[in-house]
Amino acid sequence: MDGISFDPGGREEGVAAAARLLAHKERILVFTGAGISTESGIPDFRGPDGVWTRVDPAEFTYSRFLANPDTRRRSWQMRKESGILEAEPNRAHRALVTLWEIGRMLAVVTQNIDGLHQKAGLPARVVVELHGNAHQAVCVACRAKVPTGEVLDRVAAGEDDPDCTACGGILKPDVVLFEEAMPILETDRAMHLAYEADAVISIGSTLGVFPAAFVPIRAIETGASFVIVNMGPTELDDLADVLIAGPAGEVVPDLVAALTRSTPR
Ligand code: NAD
Repeated sequence: MDGISFDPGGREEGVAAAARLLAHKERILVFTGAGISTESGIPDFRGPDGVWTRVDPAEFTYSRFLANPDTRRRSWQMRKESGILEAEPNRAHRALVTLWEIGRMLAVVTQNIDGLHQKAGLPARVVVELHGNAHQAVCVACRAKVPTGEVLDRVAAGEDDPDCTACGGILKPDVVLFEEAMPILETDRAMHLAYEADAVISIGSTLGVFPAAFVPIRAIETGASFVIVNMGPTELDDLADVLIAGPAGEVVPDLVAALTRSTPR
């Protein structure tokens, strides 16, 4: 940590403190969670209106998904109704594209499955998706991938548990379900980026989901500065150099504008 601390409350002071801390950082790793996408209409899990206040996560574990056709039916139905595939990026996603364009960002490591960083305009190669992508479905037997839209069209046409057209295996959303292992390549890549980063900005995450939260922890251990942008407290507030309490859609554009001003042309 660089020894700058900030008591959350004053958003403008927080942005100014973060801009000073990050003024000379050129390898900023952005770590995002569900909170960056709530302003795009996708609810988070643990916030006051979070999905887990309405649905029991224990019903949607990997083993249950494989064992129980009814869980699969409900899962596809929920995807269809969630609106996640139609969601549009918001100001925070778009500001991160600017951060990339001005050459200050190493990559985005996201826990989100909504694909909104790419939809906003970030090249896919700079987005590491730790928990997969809801726009794709995968066959658990032959690993064939198909667009989720196609699976949902089959659901709409009356198949409530569509199987893989190539091998007849079970189709699953290409996202990490509870109790399912993290994707090895993406996890590895995220950890390497954590070593390379000179700063981390965490946006809209409780930082309480592991192993994902090891990414910012690893970067901090390696000497990176740490800024948190979140509406509520997080599990890693004690490790932050600067905490900014506020909506990502307002804070992130302000912070990126300040960093743009401090970037030599
Ligand atoms: P979380 O649901 O645990 O926490 C989200 C945090 O964001 C909360 O602390 C909340 O106060 C904060 N927040 C909500 N709206 C905000 C806003 N507008 N600006 C700033 N902060 C805001 O999310 P998590 O830490 O990402 O972990 C949940 C898991 O759920 C992730 O692993 C992810 O895979 C998955 N998830 C993804 C999506 C998505 O793809 N959009 C949505 C829900 C859950």
